[in-house]
Amino acid sequence: MISDKLTKQQVEGVRRLLEPAKRVVILSHMSPDGDAIGSSLALYWWLHDTKAAQVIVPNAFPNFLSWIPGADSILICENAVEKAKSAIEQADLIICSDFNEPKRIGQLGQMALDAHCPKILIDHHLFPSDFADVTISYPDSPSASELVYRLLYQLGVQNWPVELATCIYTGMMTDTGNFSFNSNYPEMYEIISHLVSCGVDKDAAYNKVFNSHSEGRMRLVGYCLNNKMRIFPDYHTALIYLSGKELYRFNFKTGDAEGIVNMPLSIKDVYYSCFMREDKVAEWEKERAHGSTKKIKLSMRSQGDRPVNTFCHDIFNGGGHKNASGGEYYGELTDAVNLFLQNYEKYFLKD
Ligand code: 5GP
Ligand code: MN
Repeated sequence: MISDKLTKQQVEGVRRLLEPAKRVVILSHMSPDGDAIGSSLALYWWLHDTKAAQVIVPNAFPNFLSWIPGADSILICENAVEKAKSAIEQADLIICSDFNEPKRIGQLGQMALDAHCPKILIDHHLFPSDFADVTISYPDSPSASELVYRLLYQLGVQNWPVELATCIYTGMMTDTGNFSFNSNYPEMYEIISHLVSCGVDKDAAYNKVFNSHSEGRMRLVGYCLNNKMRIFPDYHTALIYLSGKELYRFNFKTGDAEGIVNMPLSIKDVYYSCFMREDKVAEWEKERAHGSTKKIKLSMRSQGDRPVNTFCHDIFNGGGHKNASGGEYYGELTDAVNLFLQNYEKYFLKD
């Protein structure tokens, strides 16, 4: 028996908004990860038989997520702005999954805010902004996918097709590093037990996500660890950064950097890890970039009671979870690195 985490108000709020809706748009965050894609497509499969449901994400997702059932139906806004705009304008319900504020979905953010239809937010990041009619926000939940499971469970859903179950499982698996963090409570395994009983092949899901990288990605990992990783022992900190030229050399594709930021944490006494890479400024964010054509994407991970979200928020205009955060910097990589070096000692613990 799985406990009721969501309040009755949240569950009934969803039921009330969903009932009259015919066209539902599901939105998730920039640089979609397994939880973004998994939670959104789980909602898609749930609604699939009774509504016109469409998942829209701001930009491309990595190839290792393309096998997830329904992935080929996802609309990528960057490639089809007008189509995304019109789907959002015509929607009579918008469900936002796995992000806490409109800023996290790029140009889709303003489109969603401009839409007159009701909105539901399902998320597990801190500080949800107040834009939805029903907000289901639980920062203590390891994944948005688990919250989708709980919502459906509490709504009394009886039909759990294998596609739906696989999407939820994949989101839960990826946001917990294959159940290696944020995964210490029995109920999680009751949920997994249910999903596996619905036909999820969890071994296959693991292989498809974690063992399907390109040769270029593998060599990039080797290069990062051998040539690029800097360690600052006093502050238990590791830093890796890559220029656009270096990425090009390794034939970099979306998703190739996934997981690199976690690797230095397997060194004894390294508790903070930062990974930065050059990125391009997209057309829609030119104004925000103040003339810069370069953007630096930053990822941070930490262990235990060593938050990195405040550092990412204050220094890199970002945020996230206590132990997994990110941010961005418009400008040169060397300037972003210097900004990191000038500030980390103020935020990270020495002991
Ligand atoms: P990743 O390092 O995998 O890109 O992101 C880890 C987490 O950090 C995400 O789940 C998200 O919560 C947060 N995050 C990453 N980039 C940004 C950003 O630019 N802004 C904010 N607010 N959060 C971010
Ligand atoms: Mn997530």
